[in-house]
Amino acid sequence: MAKISSRQFDDNLRRRYRRRFGKALDVPAASTRLARKRREEIVELAQAVAGEYCPDGRVEPDQIARAKQITMSFGEYGDSFDGMLEHRAGRYHIFCNVESAGFADSPRARFTLAHELGHYYIDEHRNALAAGRAPMHRSVCEYESRNLAEQEADLFAAHLLLPQERFVDKARSVQPGLAGILSLAETFGTSLTSTAIRYAEANLLPCAAIKWNWNHYAWKKLSSAAFAARYRRTVEAPENLPPDSPTTRALAHEIPPARGYFQAGTTAATWFPRVQEGEFRDIIFLEQAIPLGRWGVLTFLYTQEK
Ligand SMILES: [Zn+2]
Repeated sequence: MAKISSRQFDDNLRRRYRRRFGKALDVPAASTRLARKRREEIVELAQAVAGEYCPDGRVEPDQIARAKQITMSFGEYGDSFDGMLEHRAGRYHIFCNVESAGFADSPRARFTLAHELGHYYIDEHRNALAAGRAPMHRSVCEYESRNLAEQEADLFAAHLLLPQERFVDKARSVQPGLAGILSLAETFGTSLTSTAIRYAEANLLPCAAIKWNWNHYAWKKLSSAAFAARYRRTVEAPENLPPDSPTTRALAHEIPPARGYFQAGTTAATWFPRVQEGEFRDIIFLEQAIPLGRWGVLTFLYTQEK
């Protein structure tokens, strides 16, 4: 295959994108979930960018930005945003807030840069920015945004930093559960949260990642669709969990053991309100819960039963 320049590569990607979606759609502001087809497109785009600029090992979003002549600055901008992509006279600049995103090579700052690259690479976002329809785009990256453009940029970032094949290969070789997720996060330079989501999506075993803010449930990610259909609802009120469960202990600010997380056996009936005690779906899970500093607690449930 003939070698093409990065510029040609980008133009090709954009053309392909446009063929599938028609001419630039405006990015809807309404809260909604991403359509499956749209998700696939963004995943494909992120993986193509990772493969082009960082074909093996860790993906370095700042290298990609430099290759695209996007300038960057890291500063203290209060707590109003994590990152911001600015467009002026054909040039792009990323502001990364070290107060909220941490030092330049932290997983959070890397995710912020990757998220801003998402706004650059996703046609509709970049076009909206270039046309002045989204002049001062401020991003807050914590997977909790209901804004479609933010969800798209988060999805791009997760798949840029954790490209599917590389990630699944590595994930198969580590221990199941949080032990493995911690080591994957170290390898890929990603946050525990984004690594846990991708681990559940990779569907290596039946599992669920559940995120709590310090005082309430935030979101969950279940592994395969079949698993999700079988278990669907999870406990969302921490007071409905047993008082000595790993999650309750982590939410009570207890100090975890040296490995960094609490762990204990539990049952499906404890965690999934629609499962009756003793019925066929009431299988044994391992429950692990890890404090995430100011971001709350992440619970990881998995089973090695079929
Ligand atoms: Zn954003």
